[in-house]
Amino acid sequence: MLDERDLPWLAEPLAQLRDHPRSHALILHGGAGSGQWELAWRVAQAWLCENGPGPCGECPSCHLTVAHSHPDLKVLMPEATQLALGWSDAGDDGDSEGGEGGKSKRKPSREIKIDAVRAAIDWAHTSSGRGRGKVLLFYPADAMNVTSANALLKTLEEPAAGTRLLLCVDDPERLLPTVRSRCQRVRLEPPDLAAAEAWLTRQGVAGAAALLRASGGEPLAAKALLDEGLDATVWGQLPAQVAQGDSRALAAMPLPRAVRVLQQVCHDAMAQAAGGAPRFFMPGQVPLGAEIAGLADWSRELARVARHDEHPWNAPLRVEALVAQAQRVWSAG
Ligand SMILES: [Zn+2]
Repeated sequence: MLDERDLPWLAEPLAQLRDHPRSHALILHGGAGSGQWELAWRVAQAWLCENGPGPCGECPSCHLTVAHSHPDLKVLMPEATQLALGWSDAGDDGDSEGGEGGKSKRKPSREIKIDAVRAAIDWAHTSSGRGRGKVLLFYPADAMNVTSANALLKTLEEPAAGTRLLLCVDDPERLLPTVRSRCQRVRLEPPDLAAAEAWLTRQGVAGAAALLRASGGEPLAAKALLDEGLDATVWGQLPAQVAQGDSRALAAMPLPRAVRVLQQVCHDAMAQAAGGAPRFFMPGQVPLGAEIAGLADWSRELARVARHDEHPWNAPLRVEALVAQAQRVWSAG
């Protein structure tokens, strides 16, 4: 796993979260593509480190954390997130999803289950194994449904002595107001553009500037685009293809990604139509001349599809229709 030595922009937020005066209930938000998970995990390690203000990486606690077997750390994440991160919990006792077997047959859960939350609350009230308090990490915290979040309220209000809760979420608005009001918030900002570009270039990424535009300045997200086969050249050609009604490159992507790309093309086309500069693509890559009213309609349609992205079977047709709409917008302009 990457740590703040690999991701130098995390050092400052790590110190800020680690030394936060009200660290018993914190929300870490933003920075999903800038190392939010890596940061949260390091903060938990630092809180438990026996040679603070760590993490030192060498004490027994640090070793236990790295081995996912620290008795005073509990990470609550949905099964789907565990699979995506390759996370396994060596001390698994509360969130084994009922152990009904046949896990590979059903779709991995995207929820943090109420049973796991209840077990974690009980666990927080047992005594600390290594005497440095306990840490409960929720990733992502908006994977709790209303019932689970409500079950947590009392613990957020009056945590068991020495227990700290860290709730990670992209957008804090996705948490219940009652949860938000009981926590202090810290936002992870993307690194400044020059630092992000230098880091990506050191990682051997060509066209870092273009990929950073594509990913809102978030370097890990920029790197993930490459892993999906979207290099800077392919990225730069997408707007012209869309304007010409060519949906082939987009139809090969997962639907949420394709819709997101179309929203970025639409955003930049609208910005240019209003006399502004593009944000997600390089100047000159988004064709001029799209018709403004048509762009507004297209934007609404994209937002509608983005809200219902769970139908992979008709994804290529959906993308084709969205691109056809774009072509009409450009040819009408
Ligand atoms: Zn340590």
